Amino acid sequence: MSADPPPLGALADIAASAACPVCRARFRSAVTCSRCGADLGPLLVLSARAFRLRQKARTLLREGDFRQALGCAVEAECLHATPHGALLRAVCACLA
Ligand SMILES: [Zn+2]
Repeated sequence: MSADPPPLGALADIAASAACPVCRARFRSAVTCSRCGADLGPLLVLSARAFRLRQKARTLLREGDFRQALGCAVEAECLHATPHGALLRAVCACLA
């Protein structure tokens, strides 16, 4: 796992689509759930990795490497599925 802090875009992805896996409270941009106190750090790490994979997929799309882009988009969706990630994966799948 990466020790880097989550990129701001990853936090926006989490805020838009994630909830506490313990109590389902909405994510409130904190490492600890405001309702039940669960440690959300691992969720942040996975979301940050997914965000970076989507960035890489977009770069690969611009470079014309559609199959590698699809691989990155699929891996990102496995780590943290988002509506925008699903759209990116669909675009990659059409071009690959
Ligand atoms: Zn909670």
